Amino acid sequence: MDLLYRSTRNNNEIVKASQAILKGLADDGGLFVPVSVPKLDKSMEELMNMNYQETAYEVMKLFLTDFTEEELKDCINKAYDTKFDTEVIAPLVEADGAYYLELFHGSTIAFKDMALSILPHLLITSAKKNQIKNEIVILTATSGDTGKAALAGFADVKGTKIIVFYPKNGVSPIQEKQMVTQKGDNTFVVGITGNFDDAQTGVKKLFNDKELAQLMDSKGYQFSSANSINIGRLVPQVVYYVFAYAQLLKEGKLAKGEAMNVVVPTGNFGNILAAYFAKNMGVPIAKLICASNENKVLYDFFETGVYDRNREFVLTSSPSMDILISSNLERLIYLTAGCDAEKNAAFMESLSKTGKYEITEDMKANMKDFYGNYASEQETAATIKDLYEKTGYVIDTHTAVAASVYKKYKEAAKDDTKTVIASTASPFKFTRSVMNAIDAKYDSMSDFELVDELSKIGNVKVPNAIEEIRTAPVLHDTVCEKEEMKDVVMKFLGI
Ligand SMILES: *Cc1c(COP(=O)(O)O)cnc(C)c1O
Repeated sequence: MDLLYRSTRNNNEIVKASQAILKGLADDGGLFVPVSVPKLDKSMEELMNMNYQETAYEVMKLFLTDFTEEELKDCINKAYDTKFDTEVIAPLVEADGAYYLELFHGSTIAFKDMALSILPHLLITSAKKNQIKNEIVILTATSGDTGKAALAGFADVKGTKIIVFYPKNGVSPIQEKQMVTQKGDNTFVVGITGNFDDAQTGVKKLFNDKELAQLMDSKGYQFSSANSINIGRLVPQVVYYVFAYAQLLKEGKLAKGEAMNVVVPTGNFGNILAAYFAKNMGVPIAKLICASNENKVLYDFFETGVYDRNREFVLTSSPSMDILISSNLERLIYLTAGCDAEKNAAFMESLSKTGKYEITEDMKANMKDFYGNYASEQETAATIKDLYEKTGYVIDTHTAVAASVYKKYKEAAKDDTKTVIASTASPFKFTRSVMNAIDAKYDSMSDFELVDELSKIGNVKVPNAIEEIRTAPVLHDTVCEKEEMKDVVMKFLGI
């Protein structure tokens, strides 16, 4: 019997895993959730002797039941290979009484690689299974990070092309360099003379352009999206929580059955939702600690039961968490409302109309395993500095938000449960903020001087992802007006 997925807004839209991956979003705008979260069918003692790839298979086979063993293993082996700079894939580092789960050893040195390195393979396998002959064209608008991670994931994957639009003057110089140096015949990077919203609006228009869709179909192409709400991104993220628990058990840091807490620096709520799924699969996880930066919508939500996006948007040093609508939270709302799609749809309508909604007391009670808090910019910087001075270990700004919130939680709850902190980016990705937090004297150095200095003081090799862009040639120099996006896409596809 296949595990089926249904929309959070309509219990009658039911699809198989491969169809959910192909569609991304349900027709009614809802997100796909499995009708029940499967239980692990291997014990932790069995899992602790498996490597990352084997663990990935044991977890993902339970969610993606319409994939054959061969198909799934093939996807896993193509994703978690030498693109990662450590064989462990997701190592744990103990520092100052917590375990940092380093999710940044992939091609773009941030945690999005954990899912975006496998999504392309899941997508083309899903296309094959559903007799889709067209080549898949991934279309993305990016404000920086997701674009590069998607490019790296899809580069040279047969049967796919990827087109990324970014605001020409709206990303950091390093982010731009990372994208325009992207290799792969099937990749295409375009700067638009506009801001991120213009790029995003333009991409949405292209997705909804029926005429273009027909023309593309006649030439053997169709669009798809690598959006973070795709179940093909969520499922691979469950793996590293299972892996982390098994590793701690193996190392004797946890006793059999002993629970751990996890702390996740949160934006779109995808990563922490994966931890919640891991818990529901049977991993002994006690608290799920949701860490926010100064955009603390989620902290307020867990405190009051009111989700309210009507507030000032704050630009912080942890930009990947600067989010006012956490799209993946919809899955938790649906699940804690007892899988009541109508109730969830009403909340989401209220969110889109008024920017807010309030959940019921029952739903709040169903979320008791979550704890939310936030860290100010100053607390985040102080945490980077303290940890470095105490231990020599350097963490990035996003991870520091989590470490800071963990400190608050530990003091407030007097809870000594062993704790895993999801470390979502390499400090080399946010070198300037990290180095400034450690010492103001670094302010005058150039970006690449800072990289070398960080390598020295942190005693870590400069990651390839950074080393490469020092010298890599620019391979993409297309710039267009926002009105020209369609022409640019057609030209690239040769239609
Ligand atoms: C995307 C991202 C996050 C937030 O993860 P969500 O799944 O969106 O909550 C945190 N840190 C970094 C570095 C990220 O790139």
